[in-house]
This record gives sequence, structure tokens and C-alpha cells, in this order.
Amino acid sequence: METTIALAGNPNSGKTTLFNLLTGAHQHVGNYPGVTVEKKQGMCVFKDQKFHIVDLPGTYSLSPYSLEETVARDFLVIEKPSMIINIIDASNLERNLFLTLQFLEMGFPMCIALNMMDVAKGRGILVDTQKLSTFLNVPVIPMVARSGAGKELLMQSAAKLSEKLSNTKPLKISYGADIDQALSKMQEMIERNGFLTDDLPSRWLALKYLEGDDQVKKLGRRHNPDLSAVLEEISHDLSNHLERSMDTTAEAIIGEYRYGFIRSLIAQGVVQTDSARKPFYFSDRLDRVLTHRIFGPVFLAAALLGLYHFTFTFSQAPVEWLEKAFEYIRQVADAGLSEGPLKSLLISGIIDGAGGVFSFVPLIMLMFLGIAILEDSGYLARVAFMLDRIFRFFGLHGNSVVAYIISGGIAGGCAVPGIMATRTLKSPKERLATMLTLPFMNCGAKLPVFAVLIAAFFANYKTTVMVLVTIAAWLVALFAARLFRSTILPGEAAPFVMELPPYHLPTPKGLIIHMWERTWQYLKKAGPVILAISVILWAMMSYPQLPAATQQAFEMQKQQTISGFAPDIIHELSMGGETGNFSAAALNLQEQLNLIDSREAGEALKHSVAGKIGTAFEKLSVYAGFDWRVNIALVGGVAAKEVIISTMGTAYSLGNADMEEDGRLSTRLRSAQGFDSLTAISLIVFIMFYSPCFISVVCICRESGSWKWGAFSMIFNTAAAFILAVTVYQLGLFF
Ligand code: GDP
Ligand code: MG
Repeated sequence: METTIALAGNPNSGKTTLFNLLTGAHQHVGNYPGVTVEKKQGMCVFKDQKFHIVDLPGTYSLSPYSLEETVARDFLVIEKPSMIINIIDASNLERNLFLTLQFLEMGFPMCIALNMMDVAKGRGILVDTQKLSTFLNVPVIPMVARSGAGKELLMQSAAKLSEKLSNTKPLKISYGADIDQALSKMQEMIERNGFLTDDLPSRWLALKYLEGDDQVKKLGRRHNPDLSAVLEEISHDLSNHLERSMDTTAEAIIGEYRYGFIRSLIAQGVVQTDSARKPFYFSDRLDRVLTHRIFGPVFLAAALLGLYHFTFTFSQAPVEWLEKAFEYIRQVADAGLSEGPLKSLLISGIIDGAGGVFSFVPLIMLMFLGIAILEDSGYLARVAFMLDRIFRFFGLHGNSVVAYIISGGIAGGCAVPGIMATRTLKSPKERLATMLTLPFMNCGAKLPVFAVLIAAFFANYKTTVMVLVTIAAWLVALFAARLFRSTILPGEAAPFVMELPPYHLPTPKGLIIHMWERTWQYLKKAGPVILAISVILWAMMSYPQLPAATQQAFEMQKQQTISGFAPDIIHELSMGGETGNFSAAALNLQEQLNLIDSREAGEALKHSVAGKIGTAFEKLSVYAGFDWRVNIALVGGVAAKEVIISTMGTAYSLGNADMEEDGRLSTRLRSAQGFDSLTAISLIVFIMFYSPCFISVVCICRESGSWKWGAFSMIFNTAAAFILAVTVYQLGLFF
């Protein structure tokens, strides 16, 4: 009879290498039925006995959280191979054994190929294979698959095992009083009814019910609906009990006890670390400090503040240079072109739009460089590790932290690369919940708006306001995630082993690649799209123009004003900049003329398409304190947050006759009617949380695989932002 062996193990444990070693040229590659996961099969002949070997997809666990895990498990449950060769990376024993335990609980006949012995030795990790074999009650064969060492011994023990396949007893791990009690009760029922026991061990089935494994439940319902209902009821009662008494889940406890089992295996002498020669000694020592209960968070706060400081200090100069460069281009265009729509388009549409985007590129680049340093050095993985517990509470995963930071969790990122970064999250629901809450972070495009509003109304509390804004972003994001996870995206957190790669110095090349990739994602988004949007907005804010009669009326007003002044004063003003010093009377005239220009520009804006849209929204937005001009900027901001500032600049520059020092937006806002510090707070709140920009929405649609999530985030976020802004504004009015 031919013996089928499933080759199973974690990714990167050397499965493919071992498979090639065993099967040589006799391989066949296809797909698992119905899915695009590669299925490699081959023959191995050992001492005239034929073995059919199937390479399972590499997985860390057997709970069906991913396609690979489902495929691997279905193969084991449905195809029932005669035995498993479980390949383990000896240099990562703790993590690899997590999967091993699950095979053992299923009671499969098994050999362990303890691979990468050379790597382990190099790191000063000594594994006592004899002890491991005794503890687990399976043969353990040390190997170096790459060189072929251990192949003979492995096949010998596989051949021996194939002679007495039936007598393996499933491993029994204790999961603590509560769970063990429920398990034995369920086990007894399962055995009495012969419920699926031909194929699977009773304790394993009971465990799966407790873990809430949908696939097993489905199988059970088909087999014996009544018993399945009883088992589900017991599981349900237990999880209620655990929830109430310990605020945890059966699944979490099961995961913890499995790790406890592994830790105790290792602590009982399976692994000895030869500390004198251990190159990773440094990493371990460092981790003892950096992930320490108290020093860890302190260091984390320091690292984040450092990153913050680094980015803002070093980006200030280049941002100013770029702003000056754009200002210079603006002046050249202003002086060189004759008045008319083309000039207006070039200056207000293109130059201002492009300037708004590119001036902030240095800030974004430096922020991404800083994040790349944290990431490449291995520290970001520790951050995820430390915050995992907190994130679990909100229904997210430690790795969500990374996506949040990239999106602007510290200040000044971009949700587009952030959404890409959620690909590291295994559970689709955790991933979606992270993706949907990322846009609440303060991305690089929102910062300049806050900067202007803070400069206008809270100049003395700059840092305090920024810190509050950052904290508020995190709180809203986390609680929204929790809300999503308990309503539209329900399900337990996926137990997932967090890898802690050794620390190492980042290489300049790696840093530059990482920084550039994300900056490019931002630029690709910002560049052409924002330019196009600026032009469209410019057109919407410029047309239709005021009727000729109205324009003439303003012109008349100006003439009248001028005629009230003495001719020498008019002359002085028209000679303008030559002397630079005006008399008080000339200044007075200038001011009066500017006022008329302002009124005309204001009328013109209100008359334009954008003005009409802004006015239409005013009925609602007054509750949050926004007038039609703010509304125009906010509508523009849905296209891209970058345009909020330039649009407000235009809307409030009622009379862009002169862009003097005093013409700065903060000053203009402070003197604008109906715009006070309360409006500023309400506006900051609204901008923080309302609809993600257009490109982020497109990304969410693409990455979630459905346009519905994109639409959801636009509607939900805008509604939430509106409620928050109205609450803040009305409370402010009240007090
Ligand atoms: P898989 O993801 O489990 O299929 O792993 P692979 O077979 O692709 O192996 C991952 C990497 O580990 C490859 O670069 C192999 O050459 C290497 N590798 C496999 N076995 C050993 C080993 O015993 N010692 C060492 N040093 N490297 C190995
Ligand atoms: Mg492989």
C-alpha cells in the first residue's frame, strides 16, 4: 500500500527544500481544487517502499483564518493523509511549535523534522532533540535540509511509523479549570453519539466548538444538527461566563495555554542557549529593556517624540524654501502676464494648487524616513508587540499600529500608504476595521489647515493644541474600530504569533527605498489629481462672473471714491512702489479702494457655482458654525485635503488686491466676520474626521474588494464628523 505523507510547517521553515530533497525530480505541481493555492506532490522511494508526498501550504496555525490555513486543514480532514512530517525551524522553535501542537491535538501520526540545525547552532541555540521527542511523544530528527543531512534518518523513522499508524493518542493540553470542565462534558457527548469521531478526535472537536470554528460547526450541523446545537449552546454559555468573569474569550485562553505549554517545554530544558556565543544576545538584552513594562512605553513615547521633533525641525527650512520658490514664481507670473482669465487660472489655479502640494513634500519625506528607520531597525515590530493588548481591546491587532503611524498617527503621514500597510494583517475583519479608521489620523494634508487655524486663534497654545488633536484622532479611530468590530465587522481577534525580528542597523539603501516608495505613493496621488482639482475648483469659484452691470457699479464706486481725493494724492498712489513711503492720505485711499475690491470679490465668489453650493450647504452647516466660504473649502477637501487651505485662502482673500504680510490667511480669518476661536475648534474637529479624500476612498474600495466600503467610509465619517463638530460648537455656544 502506498503511504501518503503531508509535509507541513510554518512558512520559511524549509518545506520546499525538504520536499525537493525527498522527491528529487519526481514532482507534480498543480492547484488545490477550487483555489489558486499551489499543490505540489511527488514520490519518494525508500527501501522499496513508496511514499506519496504532498507539500501543504506554509501556515502558522490550523484555525481557518486564511486561505492557506483552510486549504491545509481541509486536506488533513478530508484527504486524511497517513501521516505528517512536520518540519520545524530549530532556530525559531517557540513559534514553530504552535502549529505542531495543533497537529498533535488532532492525533495525526507524525515525525518532526527539526530543520535549520546549522542556523540554530550558529545562534548558540542548542536543542535537546531527545527531550523534545519524549515530551511530545513523537520522533524528532535533527536536519539541515539544505545540505541533505538527516534525510536517511527521517525516512527511516517515517517508514517505521507507517507500520503502526493507528495507535497514536492525541496530545492533551490542559486549558485551565473552566475550559477543561466544558471540554470533558462535550467530549463525553461527542463520544456517546459517535459524532464525527470516525475522522476526528473528540477533544479536538470540542475544542473547535469552543474556539467558535465555523467550518467545524458547519460540518457538525450537517452531521447531527441536534447535538451540534447542544455543543454550540455549551460553548456559548462558557464564552459568556469567560467574558463576564475575566473579560476574555475561550479562543484567547486556548492560545495562551498553548504558548504556556510551549514555554514550559522550552524552560524544562529542550532549549539551551549558549549565551557566551549568542550573536542575538544583543537583541534579547535590548528587548528586555525596550519591551519592559515600564521602560518600554517610556522609550516608545521618547522615540515618537524624537521622530516628531526630527521631522518638524529638519523639514521647516526646506518647506520654507519651497514656499518662497512658489511665491517667487507667483510674483513673476503676476508681473509678466496681462490681467484676464488665463492669468487668474495660472496663478490661483495652477501655481497655488501645486505650491500647496509640493511645499509639504519635505515634511512627508522626512516623516517616512523616520518611520523607515523605526521599521527597518526592528523597533516597530516591538511597538506592535507592546500595543497588541491595547489594540485587541479595540478589536484590532498590534500590527494595526504600524498602519496608523504611517497614516499620520504621529502627525503628517498619508492614509494611502497606510491602507497598503494593512496588508500585513491576517484577519480580513481586523484589516477592514483598521483600513476604515486610518483616515481619522492627521495626515500631512490636514496639518497645514490646523497650523493656520492654530496660528489665528491659539497662537500661544500651539503644542498643546497639536497634542490634543493627535490624542483625539487616536481615540476616535480606536473607538470607531471597536464600534465596527462589535457591529458590522464582528468576530474574535485572530490569535496570531507576533514575530520579533532581531534588531539590526538599517541600511541606507533600505531606508531610501522605503522612504521613497511611500513618498511616491503620496506624490502620485497628490501631483496630477490635486492639480486637476485645483483647476476645476478655480473654475467653479470664478464662474459665472458677476453681471456686467454689477461690475460697472463697483467700478463707479471706485471712481467716486477717487474723485473725493486731491489729485496729488491720486498721483502719489499711482506712482506706487517707487518711493515706498505713502502719505497717510494715500494709504487711506488705498484702503478704501481695497475695501471695494473686497466687496466685489466677495460678491463674485458668492455668485459663482462654488458660492452657490457653499450657500446651499449653509442651512445645515450653521449648526457647526460654518458659513458658505468654509463650505466651499470643505467640499473641495473631499477631493483632496490639500485644497482646503488654498480654497480658504481664495475665499477669505476678499480683495486679493495686495498680498502683503498682513494678507496672511490667519490674520484674515481672525478679522473675518463670524469666524472666532469656537468656529476654529469646530472646523478642526470636522476636518479631522470627515470623509477621507477621494484617493483614499479609491484605495479603500480597491483593497477591500468592494466599492461599498468606500461609500460607507465617506458617509459614515462625514456624519460622525458633523455630529462631533455640531456638539462641540453648540456646547461652546452654551457655555
Ligand atoms: P519554505 O518557505 O518552508 O518552503 O522554505 P524554503 O524551502 O523555501 O527555505 C527557506 C530558506 O531557508 C531557503 O533560502 C533555504 O535555502 C533555506 N534553508 C532551508 N533549509 C535550511 C537549512 O537546513 N539550513 C539553512 N541554513 N538554510 C536552510
Ligand atoms: Mg516553499
